[in-house]
Amino acid sequence: MQSLAKQTNRAQQAIARCLEIARFSEDANGTCRTFLSAPMRDCHREVTRWLEPLGVDMRVDAAGNLRGLYPAEHPAAPRVIIGSHLDTVPNAGAYDGVLGVVIALSLLEALEGRKLPFAIEVVGFSEEEGVRFGVPFIGSRALVGRIDDALLRQEDANGISVRRAIEDFGLNPQEIPLARLDSDAVAYLEFHIEQGPVLEQLGQPLGVVEAIAGQSRLEFTFLGRANHAGTAPMHLRHDAFAGAAEWISAVERTAQTIAGSVATVGKIHVKPGATNVIPSEAHLTLDVRHDEDDIRLALVSSLIRRAEEISARRGLALRHRPLLDQKAVPMNDFLVREIEHAIKKTDCPVHRIVSGAGHDAMIMAGKIPAAMIFLRNPGGISHDPAESVAVEDVEKAIECGLHLLERLAASSEFLKRKSLA
Ligand SMILES: [Zn+2]
Repeated sequence: MQSLAKQTNRAQQAIARCLEIARFSEDANGTCRTFLSAPMRDCHREVTRWLEPLGVDMRVDAAGNLRGLYPAEHPAAPRVIIGSHLDTVPNAGAYDGVLGVVIALSLLEALEGRKLPFAIEVVGFSEEEGVRFGVPFIGSRALVGRIDDALLRQEDANGISVRRAIEDFGLNPQEIPLARLDSDAVAYLEFHIEQGPVLEQLGQPLGVVEAIAGQSRLEFTFLGRANHAGTAPMHLRHDAFAGAAEWISAVERTAQTIAGSVATVGKIHVKPGATNVIPSEAHLTLDVRHDEDDIRLALVSSLIRRAEEISARRGLALRHRPLLDQKAVPMNDFLVREIEHAIKKTDCPVHRIVSGAGHDAMIMAGKIPAAMIFLRNPGGISHDPAESVAVEDVEKAIECGLHLLERLAASSEFLKRKSLA
């Protein structure tokens, strides 16, 4: 293992690189870099400039993913993908996504030219956040062969389709099938900031993701009767908003009693929306997440029953419809255990964590064994310019990554794996 001073240097450099990439933005007042926007080209140029001197063979695939292949000891060796996304939300921080790509680069630098029994492909995904087209994961979908015509026809706010955006960037949408992973791809690893407060609260720099939570999203409408706020006595009202409010409290209380679950009513719209009128309609959204699908679905059912009960008692009508039902994605057991060993070797405590947010690893896991390492995220703040990461934690992440590569390189169980890609 390399000297501590060297690791610190690498960590500082990784952070400096994230800050440098954050300058490539569509927005002069903050960081915003969406799918195949002009600043994405600058971002590609910069990352390429860092990777190429390491003997990495660079290309941009037809879905706009930046891909760099660091060869193995032998040409017929398997390939490990290490990556994250290069796009951002509007008014973003400097580390969400980019840090994972930059850490992959740091790992290659730390190898100092040494080749492993597997090739390492660094991938900077073109699109994860779903900002430009309202559809997330365009980049990773291309690697697992999940881009269809409907997706290519999606349009952004200016009426430009995904297909057109790809052409405008100088790429050929016909070649998207060539972006797919081959059967030599045996693992996907992603370093990412936690985007939450758990590791910070535990006082731990790193966490290994054991699963990405499943999600249910629903829309609810409570229907009552509008009436005069001054003349209708309390016992004769059918207040849709009051019914919704009672239910929102029940949502919070119920989720608090089920370990590992989170439930959120994030949006409400009340009609007619006047100070002196009893609300006749309340439209709400519900977002429920858990890493066990059975528990998530049971929770959703119980919240629907609760809404029905409240509506019936208050003389309201209720409508609800599902918007999203996304299964939980477990990370690969073998890789999770290997990461745990690697974290232990950095003298950090090991903590398994469920990711409440979606990540490229979730898409990649549909095709090849995938795993993620979370870095502590000060204040749990992300998707905001205040997003940050500590040098010491990046140092631990790089150290963990190197231990992990060493372990995989020494594992006959791993090297004889064939992926299903
Ligand atoms: Zn991200």
